[in-house]
Amino acid sequence: MKVSPQYLDRFFSEAKRRGFAFLSLSQLHSALVEECALPSRSLVVTLDDGYRDNLTEGLSVFERHDVPFTVYLSTAFIDGDHIPWWYALEGLLSARRSILWRGNAISLESPAEKNDAFMRGRAAALQSSLGAETYIGEICAENGYEIENLKELFLTWNDVRELHLHPLAGLGNHGHRHLNLQTVPREVIREEFVLAGEKIARHTGCTPVHYAYAYGLFTEEAESVLRSLDAATCVMTSPGRLSAGEHKKLLALPRFMLYEGMSVDALMAQSAYVSLRGFLKR
Ligand SMILES: [Zn+2]
Repeated sequence: MKVSPQYLDRFFSEAKRRGFAFLSLSQLHSALVEECALPSRSLVVTLDDGYRDNLTEGLSVFERHDVPFTVYLSTAFIDGDHIPWWYALEGLLSARRSILWRGNAISLESPAEKNDAFMRGRAAALQSSLGAETYIGEICAENGYEIENLKELFLTWNDVRELHLHPLAGLGNHGHRHLNLQTVPREVIREEFVLAGEKIARHTGCTPVHYAYAYGLFTEEAESVLRSLDAATCVMTSPGRLSAGEHKKLLALPRFMLYEGMSVDALMAQSAYVSLRGFLKR
């Protein structure tokens, strides 16, 4: 998780004190489709990728506050044979004081330089025609850096089954290999979601109907694939809020990223700002 369990605990307490209701994705889906009223202050909690700490650190906090949540699984990470490229990049940059990037020397003396290299590397990887994983794999090889196997960071299939049986937890489909769907053809988008759905069904007996775009990156092609797969919802990472009856947004649901220390007030201010900006753009 990006935030500590202590912070999450405080955030849930504060949100409840301020009158927020916590809904599951299925409750949100029903409210949007059936146009029934939502509580005026509602929040839905989702977690991406399938990190193990969702279970080991997060679950007890969700239980303490009776907060439903959905975990979107990238099934190649759960299979344990696939490590997210962003960990490889982070590992390489933190281990070295300089590296070669496709023949160009990059200095990594200060935290600012490392951070800058990470952000530029991330952007280049996401746009690369090789695919981000191959692109970063080649940079690691160029620098003789062996990528650490970090599969213990992710849930195992046993953990996934445990979550599946938990009354507060829901499972979602985040694609098999976490590809940037803006850079791959329709067949690959379809394969990403179908394969992940089949794997989750094989291990839990249920095929998820809730989806999340990898990196939160929406594409119309992916939305059309999801429609053909009868997806109920799909989330992005663009911020925004929803009103009852906005069923056109079901496959492009906005989200706010929670960061350590963010207060309920800060979330509400961000939400008001995004709504105002959307209103002014009309
Ligand atoms: Zn993700």
